[in-house]
This record gives sequence, structure tokens and C-alpha cells, in this order.
Amino acid sequence: MKRIVVLGGGESGVGAAVLAKVKDFDVFLSDSTAIKDEYKETLTKYSIPFEEGGHSYDKILNADEVIKSPGIPETVPLVQEIYSRNIPVISEIEFAGRYDSAKKICITGSNGKTTTTSLIYYLLKNAGLNVGLGGNIGKSYAMQVATEQHDIYVLELSSFQLDGMYDFKADIAVLLNITPDHLDRYGYVMQNYVNAKFRITRNMSKDDCFIFCADDDITMGKLNKIVLQAKKLPFSQEQKLDEGAWVDGDRMHVSVDGDKYDMMLDELSIKGKHNVYNSMAAAIAGKVMKIANKSIRESLMSFEGVEHRMEKVLSIGGVLYINDSKATNVNSTWYALESVKTPIVLILGGKDKGNDYTPIYDLVKEKVKCIVCLGVDNKKIHDCFDSMVPVYETLSAEECVKKCASLAVEGDTVLLSPCCASFDLFKSYEDRGRQFKEAVRKL
Ligand code: ADP
Repeated sequence: MKRIVVLGGGESGVGAAVLAKVKDFDVFLSDSTAIKDEYKETLTKYSIPFEEGGHSYDKILNADEVIKSPGIPETVPLVQEIYSRNIPVISEIEFAGRYDSAKKICITGSNGKTTTTSLIYYLLKNAGLNVGLGGNIGKSYAMQVATEQHDIYVLELSSFQLDGMYDFKADIAVLLNITPDHLDRYGYVMQNYVNAKFRITRNMSKDDCFIFCADDDITMGKLNKIVLQAKKLPFSQEQKLDEGAWVDGDRMHVSVDGDKYDMMLDELSIKGKHNVYNSMAAAIAGKVMKIANKSIRESLMSFEGVEHRMEKVLSIGGVLYINDSKATNVNSTWYALESVKTPIVLILGGKDKGNDYTPIYDLVKEKVKCIVCLGVDNKKIHDCFDSMVPVYETLSAEECVKKCASLAVEGDTVLLSPCCASFDLFKSYEDRGRQFKEAVRKL
């Protein structure tokens, strides 16, 4: 019997182990840290042997194939040892794809993956299709392949997941944008990261579609160098196109195989330039899937967005509070600032991953009336912004929200879009966002 070892006992690893078990493999799961109780219960329910808090090499190196969680870097000694023995290492998505004949719509990019994946899922579900959501989001794809039946999957794919994919094929691939990220995992070579993102196009044939941003220089640079069988469907806010999606004045236009759709930009439920891109990508996917224009329109007008991404919390005394806790880099915050039309009380700070704040200087000067720091070490924020606006310091969500409320007046927006990771004061960006919302609701 073929032996499959799964490394990592999180959502994707446990799903992969269950699928392997259901497909009658000899399965073993190993995690170097503690596994959550709910996952242990699932493993026990399916009689899957596992270990936590360390790896037993003798139970792993006898594998015929290893399914590695995307969170485990290739540089760790165990993975190096597995490679040196030529044991194939794949991702959960590659494994599950082998047992899934559903149509697959896959989304990657440096920013906007979760939003666009959720939007495409919403659009297809609203159109009455039997669709599943997975990948880097929600419930494990492999677990769904093992226990559910869907005609279509919408999958969010990170570059780490794409790294472990070889024979998998997307029917529709969406590449939103490429900006430098995770370079520590790519030997600090940008081209390696670009190549990882382009793995989403592997194995595609002329019946498949590749949806991409024509305004993204890095994407276009790579695309011009490769031969791609798939039908190319670009989207742009800078040029008019014959096919794909583009903006003309205040309208968005979509055309796929001569089938057309258009709508006013201000009808889109999710706001900002970045969300125009995300909506265009989703509308193209909708057209390729032959969703009726009326249904596309209804979905793009009613999609509520995703928690912690430009999420409207409450309006109190004419002051709107927005939770964009997921904005953990300067690029995301740029789009957040760009999308707000009122004066802003901006909450910045947290764990800085080496930020260069210069890209947001102009928007801060134009729109931000003051900055309230929510983080431990705020020196860099002071250095960059003290000459532009008042900068205050706070150390908890509650203190921060109270300070913002005292500074904002009717017509202002209080925006949590911190440019930084959350680990100095919070467990995660989700924890930061939820504490922020709770503090707003207590005002
Ligand atoms: P990801 O899943 O790729 O991290 P999200 O949809 O979670 O992306 O959005 C993360 C952050 O990036 C949000 O703060 C959002 O404001 C910003 N963002 C969303 N879409 C885009 C885009 N197309 N381009 C640039 N920034 C974006």
C-alpha cells in the first residue's frame, strides 16, 4: 500500500490526511507543534495515526509521497532530508486535484486574493451553481473533495501552495497583481516569486482562460516572455481593451467572446480602485462561466466584502469607523487611503516588516488629519509623519478607539489600516480587527 505522510496538522493538512485515508492510502500525519483539539478529533475519527510536538524521521522518511503544509519552509532540515531521498513533495491542492473532476477557478496575486475569491464564489453561488470555496480560505479543499460533491470550486492559492503543484490544472486562473512579498522564502530573488505566481498557468490548454491585470508591469513582463495556450483575458483601468474588462469614464466594461456587460463604477458595492480591479476580475470570470448579466450585476452590487478588509463597522455621530486590519503592508494602506473620500483619522502601527512609508506621503498630506498609533514601537511613524500631522500613541484597541473618537468630527472617517503586522499587541490581524470593532461598539 502506498504510504502518504502529511506534514502539518492544520486545516489543509488534516483535510489532505482525511482524503488520503478515504482513498485507502497508508497515512501518517506529523506536526512539529501542538495540533488543535478539533483537528485531533477529526484524525481520531478517521483512524489516522499522527504525532505532534516533533517529527519521527523513521515514520516519515519511508513515505512514497509527502504532502507538505504551505506554512513549512523548504529550508527546514526534515524537508531537506526528504528532498535528498527524492521523495516527491506536493501540496494539499495538488493531491486533492487528482480526485476532483469539478471545474476549478483559481485566484492568486500579492494582494486581493481573499476578496476576489470570495466575490467570485458569491457570484457563482447567487447564480444558483453548486460551488465550493477553498484553498487558502475557509474549509480545506481536500476535505471537501473527500466528503462533499461540488460541480465547481473557487480556490484561493498562495505562492507557497503553487510551489507544490505540478499536474494540477486550473480551468480559469486569475492573477491579480505581483508586488514584492515573502521574498525571504524565495532566496530574496524577485523572479523566483514571479515564477511561483505564474505556476497558476501550468498545464492550461486553449480551452482554459487566464485572467490578469494589464496594468501590472511585472505580470506583463513575464507574460511577454512565455508561451501560454490559454485564452488571455486582461483587465485594465488605464487602457481600453477589445476583450477582457476595462474602464471608460465612470463605467466598467466587460467583453468575453463578443458577449458584453457593463455597469457604473459607483454601483459596485466594494469601494476603491483596488476593488475595481477585483470586481473586473470577478466579472470576467462570471462571463466565462456564462452567468447572466442581471445576476452579475446583482452580485457586484450586493457583495458585502470580507471581514477586516475595508469593513464598515459603525457610523457614530457622523463618524464612520472602518476596519482594514488586514492591511499589513504599505501597498494595502495606499489603496485604503485612496478609497476614502472624507478627512481621515488614521490608525497605524504594530510590527513593522521593514516598511518604506514614502508611497503614502502624498495621500497622508491630502486626507489624513492625524495619526493614532496602535503599537509598541512607534519611532519610525514619528520620524516619517511628525512633520505632516499630529501623531498620538496608544497601546490597546480601547484606548485607541477612544482617542480617535475624541479627535474625529462629523463627516470624518476613522480608518484602521495599520501598514503593519499585529503581533506586538494582538494574536493576529483578525484579533486586532475584532478588538477594534468591539471597542467601537462600546463607544
Ligand atoms: P490577500 O488575500 O491577497 O491578502 P485581501 O483580499 O485579504 O488580499 O486584501 C488584503 C489587503 O489588500 C486589504 O487591506 C485590501 O484593502 C488590499 N487589497 C485588496 N485588493 C487589492 C488589490 N487588487 N490591489 C492592491 N491591494 C488590494
